[in-house]
Amino acid sequence: MTRKIFWEDAYVREFDSTVNSVDGNQVVLDQTAFNPRGGGLLGDIGTLNGVKVTDTIKAGEDTIAHVLETPGTFAPRNPVHGVLDWDRRHRIMRMHTSAHLLSAIFNKETGALITGNQIEPEKSRIDFSLEDFDREKMLIYIGRANEAIAKNAPVKIYFMKREEALQIPGITKLASVTPPEVKDLRIVEIEGYDLQADGGVHVKSLGEVGKIEALKFENKGKSNRRLYFTIP
Ligand SMILES: [Zn+2]
Repeated sequence: MTRKIFWEDAYVREFDSTVNSVDGNQVVLDQTAFNPRGGGLLGDIGTLNGVKVTDTIKAGEDTIAHVLETPGTFAPRNPVHGVLDWDRRHRIMRMHTSAHLLSAIFNKETGALITGNQIEPEKSRIDFSLEDFDREKMLIYIGRANEAIAKNAPVKIYFMKREEALQIPGITKLASVTPPEVKDLRIVEIEGYDLQADGGVHVKSLGEVGKIEALKFENKGKSNRRLYFTIP
């Protein structure tokens, strides 16, 4: 089991830890600030004791593996100093919070469910099911998201009893996704806009996003729409 420093504080860029296990070029630590790939987010990159980490993945339910560019000389109980590629990670946090905000606004305005998303540092996308697709309206919704960003609502993260959380309408806006089978669900709330069960990294207030810019709208079949967006 890996302690998730990024759940306690998503702004930790450097940390000290200890090697738990090594498997080829994958290293598991007792705690890490590296967020693993999943939920549409890329895994973090950076360094462990100066050795490049090219990806971070889930190696089990509560185990996180750092994928090294070259197998290092890591061995169990070795001390490790980890450093995140912070510029990239901070952009992922800003993109991720943007995606939640956009999803909430699309869902509220159109009833669309989110069918997928891919959060990357330079360009992200959201897929949603919507029959009636109007480009002008989409631009209006993105304008609403930018108004929300200008108001700088706080992004709060806390845990809630699963049964209690599941009573909240729209707790998961992802079509076909059921929250994990755990006693307490991790909730990400953009105050006044959105409440989601979510395991990813976010900024602490909307203002940090800056601005959302639409890049491209695509029709992906009868009722599947795709939005590409960025944050300049
Ligand atoms: Zn999310």
